[in-house]
Amino acid sequence: MRGLASQFVLGRDSNFEYVVVENTATGTYVYWQPAGRIVDPAPYFYDIERSIDPNGDWEYIAQDLVDTYYADSPPIVSDAIPYYYRVTLKTTVNNYTSAVISNIGRPSPRFRNAARQILRRLQLPISDAEAYLLIRKIGGEPCPDCFDTDLRVATNSDCTTCLGTGRTGGYIQMPNCIRLIGRSPVGIYGPVFDVSQKLGTLNPSTFKTKLLGFPIVKPYDAIVLKSDLRRYYITQSVVSAEIGSIPIMYDAEIRLAESNDILQSFTLS
Ligand SMILES: [Zn+2]
Repeated sequence: MRGLASQFVLGRDSNFEYVVVENTATGTYVYWQPAGRIVDPAPYFYDIERSIDPNGDWEYIAQDLVDTYYADSPPIVSDAIPYYYRVTLKTTVNNYTSAVISNIGRPSPRFRNAARQILRRLQLPISDAEAYLLIRKIGGEPCPDCFDTDLRVATNSDCTTCLGTGRTGGYIQMPNCIRLIGRSPVGIYGPVFDVSQKLGTLNPSTFKTKLLGFPIVKPYDAIVLKSDLRRYYITQSVVSAEIGSIPIMYDAEIRLAESNDILQSFTLS
């Protein structure tokens, strides 16, 4: 699992829900979400800065991004050389800069071995599947069609602009896949009853499963199975295993998004 070879640092402050820096075999990913309290009108742009000394000079590595993640290629990726990152949200009203996030604190080899062993044991006897993770937007541009600035919520759960989230676009597809582990393949792959189509068997459309992988998986996020592109809402998610305060596994409940659900409008990249 690629994430376990990663550095994973979570920051949280008043301007951002989170900023995560993750080093992988293929590059360094930075991803973030602005705080839900920010409801400035669109457009939103993001600048990313990197430094080898947070008290020294900062270098812009990307500016005026619309996406909320960035694949960086730092000059040297080594345990010995930490990089520091910060993200600035720019709106027409104000600029909001995140706390400084460092990618030091790479899990030790012992951590990585222990985590791999746990995952290997889990994966051998039971079925599993890969899924795209769609992170529900908590912050970001308020939906111009249905966001209520007083209540700070979407007023139309079937809005095609925000998919009922209140934030334009609704979800962000993460570049990494996560893994689902179930006791039986039926729970994940099998025919399920789709109320809107009156098709399938009478299996319940809610499943318990284990989710493995980065980034942080939260209720109200969604997943799309790679095998058949079925879409599910994550209705519950509790960290069930962590090593060194890094979550590696979640006990989750997922609910099928029916064929007429607004989640089907999300376009996979
Ligand atoms: Zn909307």
